[in-house]
Amino acid sequence: MRHAIYPGSFDPITNGHLAIVERGLRLFDKLIVAIARNPRKQSLFSVEERKEIISEALDQHARVEVDAFDGLLVDYCKRRGTHMVLRGLRAVSDFEYEFQMANMNRKLDPGFDTVFLMTGEDHFYISSQFVREVATFGGDVSCLVPPGVSKRLIEKCKKGDGT
Ligand code: ADP
Repeated sequence: MRHAIYPGSFDPITNGHLAIVERGLRLFDKLIVAIARNPRKQSLFSVEERKEIISEALDQHARVEVDAFDGLLVDYCKRRGTHMVLRGLRAVSDFEYEFQMANMNRKLDPGFDTVFLMTGEDHFYISSQFVREVATFGGDVSCLVPPGVSKRLIEKCKKGDGT
């Protein structure tokens, strides 16, 4: 069985991420959507909230597991028994960072490899950061994220909290 890890912050998951998962499922038998815990990065949703939100959004996909990890991605991959990572590419700006990360990971583990999927024309401008910013100022993000996420963003922004 070929499985791959799709790591990211997913704060929150967007339609851009969902499209990558759906296309990734055509390449792999199973995908693990893995939330990277980063205590130094301020997030809007806690890791537990993100896990719940992603599970809801991907409920219909039996071949997807949602998890979270600490530390190095290569170590997490080893624990999960795979060397394959899936990432999405939106723009040239993504490329530079992804190129460095893919090579650093391969340096740490020569068996490691990253598969990149180019974003679709409907999703190239969507990022979790912009979704958070627009929602914070009361903008409508319902066409950019799954329905459950939109609802939670409105609630979160009303409360004005973050973790
Ligand atoms: P963001 O940069 O939106 O905070 P993440 O850290 O959660 O995203 O990203 C996880 C992966 O998903 C990265 O490879 C990122 O490039 C990819 N990704 C994020 N948004 C999109 C999108 N709209 N289309 C394609 N890939 C995306």
